[in-house]
Amino acid sequence: MSDEEAASTSVPTYKARKYRCPYCNAFSQQVWEDLYAVGPAPRTVVAATSTCAACDEYALWRPMPSLWTSGTLPWRMVYPSVTAVGPRPHVEMPAKVKEVYEEARSVAATSPRAGTALLRLALDILVRELLEDASRITLNDAIARVIAERQLSQEAQRMMDVLRFHGNDALHPVVELDAEGEEEDLVPALAVFLNTLVEETIARAANAERMYQALPEGKRAEIERRDTRAREAKERAERPA
Ligand SMILES: [Zn+2]
Repeated sequence: MSDEEAASTSVPTYKARKYRCPYCNAFSQQVWEDLYAVGPAPRTVVAATSTCAACDEYALWRPMPSLWTSGTLPWRMVYPSVTAVGPRPHVEMPAKVKEVYEEARSVAATSPRAGTALLRLALDILVRELLEDASRITLNDAIARVIAERQLSQEAQRMMDVLRFHGNDALHPVVELDAEGEEEDLVPALAVFLNTLVEETIARAANAERMYQALPEGKRAEIERRDTRAREAKERAERPA
């Protein structure tokens, strides 16, 4: 991972030169040391520590077995254990969505796969909150409906489908590896997507409505008369002669 990429996500990653320190929150240089088991040669590395250049605290890393991987195990920070990944939830994020979103952030450092699957669930809840009576349709269909009903941007559609795809993928034993052969951690980017979707589907509309309602009453009445006139003119034009 390049420094630039690391700065954009800053999630603690095994052997990364820098990451956001879970102790002092600085984007700081890390000094790595391998720990060996005492025993007959050849000695094996069983764990590693990363010490923060800013605060001198160390984190402990171990190869962690997961349900999905065989062979080389991915290394994860095991101490300190709670490291929230990705941005804090948007202030307008609905409570039910937020609950799952925060769970995704808290598990993502030790299991990006669980984090990804939970972010898909958060999207599922968000999309159904935006629709009426969407309890019996699939997320795929719910996305198509919400895009059409709310006239959402193509950007929103892409973010929803990327979240849906990776969330499904996380539940199947297919491991996507990046160029360095590491399991790719998509959680920070997907978390940003979810916040952006809350901004587009809820916050922006709420803000426009709030500011519109703050206009003088006479002005709003004038606007409503204008729109009624336009609607009537359109209806007249469409009426068969
Ligand atoms: Zn630190």
